[in-house]
Amino acid sequence: MVTSRAIIYSNYGDPLSEIKVHQYTISDPVDDEVLLQSVAAPINPSDLIQIAGIYPSRPPMDTSLGTKEPSAVAGNEGLFKIIKVGSKVKDFKIGDWCIPLHVNTGTWRTYSKTAEDQLIKIPKNYVSMAQATTVSVNGCTALQLLTTLTDVKPGEWVIQNGSNSVVGKFVIQIAKKMGIKTLNVVRNRPNIEELKKKLYDLGATKVITEDENTSPEFESTIKEWTKGSIIKLGLNCIGGDSATGVVSKVSPEGVFVTYGAMILGPVKIPIHKLTFENVKCVGYWVTENAKKDINGKIKSVHEALKLMHDGVIGDIDVEEKVVHLDNLTDEEFLQIYKNAFTDSKKLKQLVVY
Ligand code: NDP
Repeated sequence: MVTSRAIIYSNYGDPLSEIKVHQYTISDPVDDEVLLQSVAAPINPSDLIQIAGIYPSRPPMDTSLGTKEPSAVAGNEGLFKIIKVGSKVKDFKIGDWCIPLHVNTGTWRTYSKTAEDQLIKIPKNYVSMAQATTVSVNGCTALQLLTTLTDVKPGEWVIQNGSNSVVGKFVIQIAKKMGIKTLNVVRNRPNIEELKKKLYDLGATKVITEDENTSPEFESTIKEWTKGSIIKLGLNCIGGDSATGVVSKVSPEGVFVTYGAMILGPVKIPIHKLTFENVKCVGYWVTENAKKDINGKIKSVHEALKLMHDGVIGDIDVEEKVVHLDNLTDEEFLQIYKNAFTDSKKLKQLVVY
């Protein structure tokens, strides 16, 4: 038996105000169950809008963990270590690393228990902790965005905004391996040259700022760069003017995909992109894809892991918030997550146990 500490919420609203800590005991695993100790969990943008109540996929709120009010454990992605196994467990042993097969499992807790068929095994030391922790959402997404929506061929271009995100950096690296050129849009900042260098080092073909993305005058420079080829795919995870800038550069018969909305609000598409150029505007959601085709998700996880293992996708730039479980108070545990929420606006945060 272990005592687990979980980050829970009972109401939807500002994540910084709604999260609290709940302690509960977990009995030893029986039959096909395994007991998991958390190794690390990322803070993803969707985790925060899930707590805010504006994300369509949500875990159920109930009192099964002994909370006074119906509550849900937060977090959708994480890396775990098996610390005990039930007598009928076939595929896992103590010490194995694993990630959840599905979302909404409530990954932000110190210990948890589940059936072995709810997990994907990660071979130990195959990839880094940060890579294993982020493969199932961001890794799968980058891979599926590039490979399932249209057939971008070597020499053709992909344009994306949010290029400094974890997904964006995965896209750059996978595209490079596929021989696809990338036009990457990032927000301007005082040290823009430093960021551009980082993305060029990952394999970006060109990096431009949001100002250049939305400037009609800059179109001719992009036409120079892409001369003789086409921008077949546009990836949008931001929205607003940034999205309009991206779709405007997608070539006739290309595909424009919206998969995120860092600026919440509608996406405006110039009419001629639809009427005269037949650009297809579609959405992408890794969660829905997994619901429809769980084997496809498992396959993508393994493919993304292999790309990480082979060095195609390098290690991830993250900031670690380390939880020292000894003598940790609930208040301190809560504060670590709150700090991670705030700092996730600057860099991907990993809460590491
Ligand atoms: P990260 O937390 O790594 O990065 C977020 C990025 O958003 C940063 O690069 C940041 O830019 C940028 N950003 C934030 N606010 C703004 C703004 N106002 N204007 C322009 N850029 C902004 O993100 P992830 O890699 O985890 O996720 C990236 C996106 O992909 C998110 O929108 C997420 O919801 C989406 N996503 C969608 C999935 C799906 O299935 N549909 C699955 C996985 C992710 P900067 O570098 O300048 O700070």
